Amino acid sequence: MSDRQVNVSIKTILPGSTIGVLGGGQLGRMIANAGSELGYRFVTLDPTDGGPMGQVSEQIVAQYDDANAARELAKRTDVITYEFENVDANVASMLMEEAYVPQGSHLLYTTQHRLREKHAIEAAGVQVAPYREITSQADLEAAVAEFGVPCVLKTATGGYDGKGQWVIRSEQEIAEAFETLVKAKTELVLEKFIKFSKEISVIAARSPQGEVKVFPASENIHVSNILHLSIVPARINPALQQQAEQLALQIAQGLDAVGLIAVEMFVTEEGELFVNELAPRPHNSGHYTMEACRTSQFEQHVRAVCNLPLGDTSLTTSVVMVNVLGQHVAPLLERFATHDELADQLVVTPKLHLYGKADAVHNRKMGHVNVLARSSDDAMQWIESTGIWTEEWKSWN
Ligand code: AMP
Repeated sequence: MSDRQVNVSIKTILPGSTIGVLGGGQLGRMIANAGSELGYRFVTLDPTDGGPMGQVSEQIVAQYDDANAARELAKRTDVITYEFENVDANVASMLMEEAYVPQGSHLLYTTQHRLREKHAIEAAGVQVAPYREITSQADLEAAVAEFGVPCVLKTATGGYDGKGQWVIRSEQEIAEAFETLVKAKTELVLEKFIKFSKEISVIAARSPQGEVKVFPASENIHVSNILHLSIVPARINPALQQQAEQLALQIAQGLDAVGLIAVEMFVTEEGELFVNELAPRPHNSGHYTMEACRTSQFEQHVRAVCNLPLGDTSLTTSVVMVNVLGQHVAPLLERFATHDELADQLVVTPKLHLYGKADAVHNRKMGHVNVLARSSDDAMQWIESTGIWTEEWKSWN
């Protein structure tokens, strides 16, 4: 894969056509469910037979870097997209030659690497947390002296859900932090610690012909680096909401994105916004759109990739999305099997989404609930009162 934007001629892929998806996890499943309603057919390439997407679409069971399997995916489909960003570089370039991949490989190349991503965000005129590229312990010492502690050392590639990073809280930690992260054999980046008051995200969609739309900003609460809640509308002032949505539009346009691009940001007490990271795909913080917006992020992704007009992203209700991890499944299923008087009292509608994963392993994302309500306070009250998320509740309240 190169950083050169490959020119892809624009095609409109009409409902009835077949969409290939690299990756077969929950994001693929929800893309397929939304796209099937429009009349598309789906084939996923994923090594796990009958995983979340394989249960609702056709599947080629193979490793992601299997070029022959990717070639077969190209043969069986009219357009190809992906549901995760670490697509193998060789497979991506092969597909660019042999299939129609309207998203190209440029955005993947950019977002697979924190430094390239930061450069691209800055080039789009948007602010990121101050950072320094680190290639030696001496670099790290100098950068820590410049930013002060705490500060955050991150690997440029391969990190997710807080992995591949180290919050340096004193100069004594420098050597150990460097020695630990340097083992990942990728560049390192040191970021100034942003004392944020909130984390938010905005998901933008762009079609090949350049139409762009954004979803309402979501306020995100993480516990142990895993998304726990998305609260929408975000509890920030409307001007800041608009500014966040404008930044996401600017990034989608500046990076020539096609499909969805999720933009995660920090909000400071002073009302400043810093972009933390991007994901060129549907995002966990956009699951609330499934029932709370006129168009879901998954339908929008299909529309964008197929070059259909983008759907209306208006919010139709307050909503709080709560993630269902392995440890929450059993009590939640019990709850859903009985009449929920509390939900009636609070006038909330909890909408359950499970991803069809076999093993409810601790902290594994198994599903989510979109709690539709008259206000996010009511939705939060339902979540707290169920007693299912007590551990999470304790850790952030
Ligand atoms: P990331 O993997 O970059 O999304 O970071 C995971 C989490 O670590 C974020 O959601 C923040 O809560 C925290 N974090 C990351 N970078 C910074 C930073 N520069 N300043 C403060 N907190 C950060």
